[in-house]
Formats: sequence, C-alpha cells, structure tokens
Amino acid sequence: MGNQEVINEGQQYLMNNYARFPIALVKGDGVRAWDADGKEYLDFTSGIAVCGVGHSNPALKEVLENQAGRLWHCSNLYWIEPQVQLAAKLCRLSGLDKAFFANSGAEVNEAALKLVRKYFSLRGKPGCEIVAFHNSFHGRTLGALTATGQEKYHRGFEPLVPGFVYAEFNDLGSVEKVITEKTGAIIVEPVQGEGGINPATSKFLTGLRRLCYEFDLLLVLDEVQTGLGRTGKMFAYEHYGIKPDIVTLAKSLGGGFPIGAMLARAEVAQAFEPGDHASTFGGNPLGCAVANRVLDILSEEEMLNHITRIGDYLKSRLQSMTGKRKDVKEVRGLGLLLGVEFTREVKPLVDICMQKGLLVISAGPRVLRLVPPLNIALDEADQGLAILNEALNEWQDE
Ligand SMILES: *Cc1c(COP(=O)(O)O)cnc(C)c1O
Repeated sequence: MGNQEVINEGQQYLMNNYARFPIALVKGDGVRAWDADGKEYLDFTSGIAVCGVGHSNPALKEVLENQAGRLWHCSNLYWIEPQVQLAAKLCRLSGLDKAFFANSGAEVNEAALKLVRKYFSLRGKPGCEIVAFHNSFHGRTLGALTATGQEKYHRGFEPLVPGFVYAEFNDLGSVEKVITEKTGAIIVEPVQGEGGINPATSKFLTGLRRLCYEFDLLLVLDEVQTGLGRTGKMFAYEHYGIKPDIVTLAKSLGGGFPIGAMLARAEVAQAFEPGDHASTFGGNPLGCAVANRVLDILSEEEMLNHITRIGDYLKSRLQSMTGKRKDVKEVRGLGLLLGVEFTREVKPLVDICMQKGLLVISAGPRVLRLVPPLNIALDEADQGLAILNEALNEWQDE
C-alpha cells in the first residue's frame, strides 16, 4: 500500500484521536526513515525521543531476535533474568536502589503516584497531596493526566483524581505557597518536554530538593523524555547536582520497544508489598533484553560527550540561523532536546520541513522541537540544518 491507501483505510478504522501527518512510515535506518511511497526523510523526531540509538539499530535487532527465540513472556509470577539485569544496571546508573517496570511513561508515572500515596499512608498521612506544575506533561491515564497541568488535556475528562495542586514551573515561591501539612510529594520534569522544552533553572530544581528535605516530601522526577542520555547526562538531574527519591523513565529505554521503569530509594520502594501494584507485560523478557542493550550502547565511552557536542553544535547553529528573525524568541534546551520558540504557530514550518524531507515536531503550538537520534553524526546534523534553513526561508516568504 502507498501513503494514500494506508491513510484511507486508517481513516475508516482508526479512532480519530491523533492529528497525523499525511504519510505512513514503513522503514527506518539510523537517522533516516522512508514512507510508503518510497520517499526518504531525515528523522529529527526519533519517534518523539524514543529511538535514541537510531531506527533499526542492528545491535538491538540482534538481541530482540535472540530473545524471541528463547522466551517472549512468562509474567511476573516468575523471576525474569533480563529484567533483573536491567534493574541492576538502572540502579547502578541512577544511584537509586529499586526498580519497577511497566510499558509506558504514563504507567510508570501512575506507579510513582501510587508509591507516593502508599508510602505516606504507611507513615500516618493517607491521601497525601501531590504538587505538580502548570504546563507539565506526565501522560494520559487519569492519574498522570491529573498531574499534567494543562487544562486543554483535562477538558471533557473530569472528574480527575483528587489530591493534586499546581504551582508555576521555575517559581519556587509558588511552590512554597501550596505546600501544607497534607503535601506528600512534588512531581516535575527537569526539562518540560511537551510543554515547550523549558529547562528547570538550577535555583528552581535545587530549591525543590531543599523544600522536599525541609518538609519531608518526596521528589519525583519525570525523566520519561529527558532520561538516558537525551540531555547529555544519563539522567537530567545530574546537571543540577541533585538526586530524586523517585525517577520515571520510558521513551528511550527500549529504543522503540515499549518499556518504562520507575526507580526509587530503598526506603521509599519498600512501601510496595506483594499485591500492591503490578503489570502483566511490565518487565517482559523481550523489552528488558532490548533495554539492556540500549543502556550498554548509551554507556559506551564518548556517547554522552558525543550528545553534548552535537547538541551544542546544533544549538549554536540554530541560534545563528535564526538570530536575525523577528519571529524567533529563543533557542533553548539541553543536549539533544532542543526547542526553538517562535512568535507564531510552527505547524506550517513543520509541514514545509516534511515536504523537503526533514521530520520535526512541535512542543506546544509555537515551539519547534528537535530530538534526533543520540548517535546522529555531524554531517547528518548538518543535512538536517540545511533543510531546516531552506524551510525557514520559504516560510518567511509566505
Ligand atoms: C511522553 C511523556 C510521558 C507519557 O509517556 P507515554 O509513554 O506516552 O505514556 C510522560 N512524561 C513525559 C515527560 C513525557 O514526555
């Protein structure tokens, strides 16, 4: 089938909950992808920061095929060796003590919210309140959706989960105002992703850590988008010299295989007892085998330096490319999680880029988001920039 046939049938049989681009992708290789009509693209979306080690990574293909020949699934009724190995690796990398696995970002955030509630109910503070932030994004299940401080995602789905209060991102004073004796935890993204690529200031994130110590609260970091090398550190919190009590990961963990992880300090993790939480597919042998290999690749010497180097290069080139434009407000981000904020909606620019063979996405209506694979080469970065530059010139002329 070509693009149009896929689209026609999709429109007939799929629910209408996505505003999709009018192409169907059928193949990928590294930073490149092809649509059903055979057109080639440079993919600077990586499936929204998922395919960190590139499309069809041969090392991932090999472990997935090996594991597929051994055991696909057995449930968490039994011990699963690749899951144990993955937990050990994640704990070593994060400095946290225990892992729980699920299949998506929303699910591990859901697990984190439940762990917070259970922890405080054991400590005589049942039904604790959770502080979340305006403009955040934590997923679409009802708990994660409630933590998501964006009205447009809430509308039509009320009543939401009780016990959430909201503060302003990068405004410590607004957090102090909502903390009461009922508060249990603060959930925050080190860089707001869907909300527009807004990095937390150092003062803000270290301040949240301090507030959590002071008022005996848990700091939950949602690193579903920022985690595992995306910002040039294995965890974005390393940029800030702090450690969370709970961290959640998903997008890039499986390199495209659906898997998410929640990590926690031992004292917090022990609030979960058998029967408290579970996931049929969570920590499945296929996903864990792949994720182990993803972590090995990201842990290779020079990988994080590479991400920082290419990220800084892209950022400075974007700054010089857009410096004279009146419609550009700011180029920002960390590592290979980059955003360009415009004074107008970027959807037409994204469409022009796609026509010219570059896949990019927005983060909110006015921010262009660039999240290429982490192992992108310098010349591939240049090719993407050249297309973007052409698209920017064309957009200006309109
Ligand atoms: C994408 C995202 C989620 C939701 O992940 P899903 O796998 O779509 O449920 C949660 N938090 C952040 C920060 C994200 O970027």
